[in-house]
Amino acid sequence: MMSDCLFCKVIAGDIPSDCVYEDDEVYAFKDIHPKAPTHVLVIPKVHADTLDDVDDAAALGSLMHKVRYIANEVLGLEAGYRVICNVRSGGGQVVFHLHVHILGGTKLPF
Ligand code: AMP
Ligand code: ZN
Repeated sequence: MMSDCLFCKVIAGDIPSDCVYEDDEVYAFKDIHPKAPTHVLVIPKVHADTLDDVDDAAALGSLMHKVRYIANEVLGLEAGYRVICNVRSGGGQVVFHLHVHILGGTKLPF
């Protein structure tokens, strides 16, 4: 837990969020500014600033396996979905706690 991290505060419950799934490793909640009818963020409970800061291949594999599970089994995005991970400022990352976006619920335009 990083005391000055927005998403660590979300995990701790210090900032309210609309949780859709939680287990020992990840927390998933609705994006506050949705860019599609379904827009969920999946974050590891252990803080890492960016994708580039996790070297554990098994942990990254598990994260993506859970993203797939949440998209299909929790969110029911049977028509398909998009997964985005913005990495560092040049990639558009604004919140520096690793997170994976799941977007769906419409035909995504591009
Ligand atoms: P990124 O540009 O990949 O760092 O995306 C950060 C995302 O976090 C944006 O889509 C924001 O809308 C979202 N966001 C920021 N604060 C919150 C919050 N308190 N609850 C839910 N989503 C948030
Ligand atoms: Zn954090």
